[in-house]
Amino acid sequence: MIASMVQSSRKAKSVSSIMLDGVGLTLKDASMKLDPACIFCKIIAGNADASLVYKDDLVTAFMDIQPLLRGHLLVIPNAHIPDLSTLDRKLNNRMFEVACNLAQALRTSGLQCEGVNLFLADGRAAGQTVFHCHLHLIPRFVGDGFRIQFPPHYGTRPDRGELDRLAAMVKAGLKPS
Ligand SMILES: [Zn+2]
Repeated sequence: MIASMVQSSRKAKSVSSIMLDGVGLTLKDASMKLDPACIFCKIIAGNADASLVYKDDLVTAFMDIQPLLRGHLLVIPNAHIPDLSTLDRKLNNRMFEVACNLAQALRTSGLQCEGVNLFLADGRAAGQTVFHCHLHLIPRFVGDGFRIQFPPHYGTRPDRGELDRLAAMVKAGLKPS
């Protein structure tokens, strides 16, 4: 379903083109890394319609074609980066910076937005279905009906020893920066 997140609105495309001109978009480098079979790469290349919200030299944001809630949008790198492990620091930083700006924009947009969830599915087991890294911004309001389903054991707190063991395991996996 995320694979079909491409808007088919000609009107939206023409508006986004104006916006792109305004930010002096340069896709020369990024286009070297696009995957022609990837729907998000097609959007970046202008070969698939999308309702663009923002685009710069590193990242693009557009409306999710199958929104969980009205105003749900995606932020993606302007290169075919499959997952977090292949996302470099520069892209990582820009994606989060843009997401923070867009979260504020959602709140002041006139859309019903009292809060925002950021959600990134990294890997198939985590729910990733389009393997071009993407960060969801989901505008929220009280009573919106959106829920995250917790596993059955949720609510049982592990003891400190278990938390310390887990912390040590994750620390051991950290790569030197
Ligand atoms: Zn891609």
